[in-house]
Amino acid sequence: MNTTNGCPFCSLPAGRLMFSRGQALAFKDAFPVSPGHTLLAPKRHVGSLFDLDHTERDDVFSALSIARDYLMSEFKPDGFNVGINDGIAAGQTVMHLHVHLIPRYAGDVGDPRGGIRWLFPDKAKYW
Ligand code: AMP
Ligand code: ZN
Repeated sequence: MNTTNGCPFCSLPAGRLMFSRGQALAFKDAFPVSPGHTLLAPKRHVGSLFDLDHTERDDVFSALSIARDYLMSEFKPDGFNVGINDGIAAGQTVMHLHVHLIPRYAGDVGDPRGGIRWLFPDKAKYW
């Protein structure tokens, strides 16, 4: 199955697509948390990273690198958070797998140490 009714990533408006790479798509997050926030997804409606076939996985990760190069040239970020919310318990809200590529900029938060550890604010600080 290539599309699932009601899935926003199975029916992306052309204007949101940045590029496609083999079996992968790159597009702007509609509600970016930082300038340049980009999503990489397989064309096929698959929920989990662990359900991709090898070609899809390779293409998603190739698209991730291409998007990173584009963002470096266009936005000149100082770092990235790269993440997948894989499963409802992990926070996934669109059940079509996607990798978040979130550019980070020096000073965008007061203290960025710990990054994704802040999923659990009580445990983030180990230092
Ligand atoms: P997640 O919670 O990891 O499933 O992330 C879903 C992401 O999809 C969020 O960052 C949303 O801002 C983004 N999003 C939701 N609807 C759309 C849409 N129609 N086009 C692009 N991004 C979307
Ligand atoms: Zn979908």
